[in-house]
Amino acid sequence: MKLYNLKDHNEQVSFAQAVTQGLGKNQGLFFPHDLPEFSLTDIDAMLELDFVERSSKILSAFIGDEIPQEILEERVRKAFTFPAPVKPVEEDIGCLELFHGPTLAFKDFGGRFMAQMLAHISGDKPVTILTATSGDTGAAVAHAFYGLKNVRVVILYPRGKISPLQEKLFCTLGGNIETVAIDGDFDACQALVKQAFDDEELKQKLGLNSANSINISRLLAQICYYFEAVAQLPQEARNQLVVSVPSGNFGDLTAGLLAKALGLPVKRFIAATNANDTVPRFLQNGEWSPNLTVATLSNAMDVSQPNNWPRVEELFRRKNWRLKDLGVAAIDDETTKATMRELQTKGYVSEPHAAVAYRALRDQLHPGEYGLFLGTAHPAKFSESVEAVLGETLTLPQALAERAGLELLSHNLAADFAALRELMMSKAQ
Ligand SMILES: *Cc1c(COP(=O)(O)O)cnc(C)c1O
Repeated sequence: MKLYNLKDHNEQVSFAQAVTQGLGKNQGLFFPHDLPEFSLTDIDAMLELDFVERSSKILSAFIGDEIPQEILEERVRKAFTFPAPVKPVEEDIGCLELFHGPTLAFKDFGGRFMAQMLAHISGDKPVTILTATSGDTGAAVAHAFYGLKNVRVVILYPRGKISPLQEKLFCTLGGNIETVAIDGDFDACQALVKQAFDDEELKQKLGLNSANSINISRLLAQICYYFEAVAQLPQEARNQLVVSVPSGNFGDLTAGLLAKALGLPVKRFIAATNANDTVPRFLQNGEWSPNLTVATLSNAMDVSQPNNWPRVEELFRRKNWRLKDLGVAAIDDETTKATMRELQTKGYVSEPHAAVAYRALRDQLHPGEYGLFLGTAHPAKFSESVEAVLGETLTLPQALAERAGLELLSHNLAADFAALRELMMSKAQ
């Protein structure tokens, strides 16, 4: 597989390089040189396969002969150990539930596949995973790498800005997982990570590797569940399909668009954000003008400078698609709460992220179309807000219940690169 840096098309790398480097020069994102395309017959045949077999085929179409198909399939089998069911919510709308993995959010798919790929690629060489999270990435990355030999994981998150339960889920592991609470917002954490990757000495000494949604292996893994969704739909729904994606860094949306580029029959996508609405405003008035990040109920989407957006633009350019065909919506917290209650009356308990996507979908779905919205997290993961909004007590799934009583092991740090650097170097072997 060949990939190029979006900031400098002359920088070309292999899949292994893109996975280990994360970012290219000048913090440029990597993008696939070839965009494979399946015929309609291929797609129909693939939709008949089981999740792991089909996913290996999709991933192999991108990765090519860099990883033999059988090895890839073994790795995919270790990564995708849980289902992605479509649950009917209304006659013409279903929820693609992506939260049945170990950390109860869709980021388990990308995190676990990336961990498998890094383990395959790096062999015995020590690596340090450094990532910033607004909540769910951190948990997924921590659990995906926990206990893996030769891998040290450092996770930055905005102090006090993620849910207490979320914090428990990944800041209580210890072992090869270090967590750092930063005095600042998610964008500040993300900026620190970017600074670290610009620091050649740090990068070399630690074998630094990024693990957030910019890593290409995560994106490729996420393509697979869009196929899994369509495989569960009746034939009539397949050609009338509208998919609504709750968006923060726009990695999930990028993966969905890549699925469409491969030939998956999706009529259109809707990018649904919360009040952090840089993209909806951009598509409405053509001006890229991020505001300060604001805290919302759907806090994993509290991102005002979505780092995958350049990939979305590149894909539209390469495919000659028009950005104005991408649906957008920005849903505020009041509407999100009302929507969670509306879903409750339909017998479906949802959390704020999925509710944002449902709202946008319900508002923009035309008669005769079938809509899917992505259920990106288990409601119990956001039990504080869900219980307050719905007046209903949720039972914690076992994964959360077990961790809730454990002590937090995080360091606290100012949003200061020198301090982070010292912390990271202090333990370098
Ligand atoms: C990360 C996350 C999102 C946003 O996904 P992006 O790929 O960053 O757009 C939405 N919902 C939940 C629950 C998340 O954790």
